[in-house]
Amino acid sequence: MSAQSSTSVTLPDAREAFEHVSAHIAEHGIEPETLGSAHHRFRYEGSTIQLRHDGAALTIALEAPSPNMLYFLKEAAALHVAEIDPVAAESLRWSDQLAPVHQPVNFSELTLIRRSRPIRGVTRLTLEADDIGSLADGGLHVKLMLPADRTRTPVWPSVAANGVTKWPKGDDRLHVRYFTLKSLRPEIGEVDIDVVEHPGGMISDWALEAAPGDRIGVMGPGGGHPPEQQEGLLLAGDMTALPPIARILESLSAEASGHLVVAFPENADPASYLPPTALELRTVAPERFRQEVLSIVQAIGAERRIQNAWFGGEHANAQALRQLFKRDFALGQGAQLSVAYWREGRRGDARRETD
Ligand SMILES: Cc1cc2nc3c(=O)[nH]c(=O)nc-3n(C[C@H](O)[C@H](O)[C@H](O)COP(=O)(O)OP(=O)(O)OC[C@H]3O[C@@H](n4cnc5c(N)ncnc54)[C@H](O)[C@@H]3O)c2cc1C
Repeated sequence: MSAQSSTSVTLPDAREAFEHVSAHIAEHGIEPETLGSAHHRFRYEGSTIQLRHDGAALTIALEAPSPNMLYFLKEAAALHVAEIDPVAAESLRWSDQLAPVHQPVNFSELTLIRRSRPIRGVTRLTLEADDIGSLADGGLHVKLMLPADRTRTPVWPSVAANGVTKWPKGDDRLHVRYFTLKSLRPEIGEVDIDVVEHPGGMISDWALEAAPGDRIGVMGPGGGHPPEQQEGLLLAGDMTALPPIARILESLSAEASGHLVVAFPENADPASYLPPTALELRTVAPERFRQEVLSIVQAIGAERRIQNAWFGGEHANAQALRQLFKRDFALGQGAQLSVAYWREGRRGDARRETD
């Protein structure tokens, strides 16, 4: 379902804003089509962003494949305008949002149905919501959220008139962390999210203690698109990255080839968790993974040409592997991605507005 919206915002120097927002979009590797000196069009994963200026006003016209993606684009546009002129960004209004909107279109509350343990060290949350179908498109990851003060009744995010998410502050602030939708069953309104158990983590503790009927906030989905180049693949990750790796494997064609290096408990059968794959699998015990992953991947790269590499895991590993992918494997943007999923000794912070 295609969704559209537009806005026109008056600025002291609309040309500067046009160039600033255009440059920001281009930084994400999305090149503009120049339709005139004052008119750019960008195409990104089924969405179209058009920017125009006439010296006094910047006009932004958006078309997206889903309301969820449109919400994301509107918020990004308003935040980019705010970098140039925060007051003008406050006054910005969208053509599809003339009446107040109370909750972000991509927000919902999920209710726990049951907990299980697909593998040692991982709690599976099976959750339900009325509109679970809205989680099916647009990406693999969501933000899960709970009140940072667990004794308080949740105050969920709302939407400002300019389309930007308003995050509760102070005593009502939220604890927000990224997780991956492991499996979706929209026909029965269920989704599975697998949480790596690490005592002291708020979401991890909730996963271990929650009872059927307990609720948690979710926003998304977004991000985590499968690699385009499917030959010479290298996928690697610790247990937090097993859910996205499973989803990526499900999406690969039969011709996909390459290597898979994952943290997986000893004496457990990877086939019980990961879908069938032609990629060569190497499992490493979770307690050794962080020490060993770099040299294992280096050795694979020394023997075979890696054409597309992906890693998800602890911050220091992610940095080392990013460098390896770029420098030793000579992989450019779009052919490699190494993401810090968590950081030793540091509470993550998915959004600055939260704890
Ligand atoms: C795109 C993306 C997708 C992700 N998908 C998943 C997923 O599907 N499943 C999943 O389990 N995680 C996933 N993660 C990682 C998850 O967001 C972090 O582990 C997060 O910190 C957990 O939140 P928490 O509230 O439990 O702990 P926090 O309050 O954030 O952290 C508390 C303490 O625990 C430590 N810590 C955090 N994670 C771990 C860990 N895994 N092992 C050991 N110590 C840890 C921190 O360093 C900190 O000291 C994903 C991250 C990203 C960026």
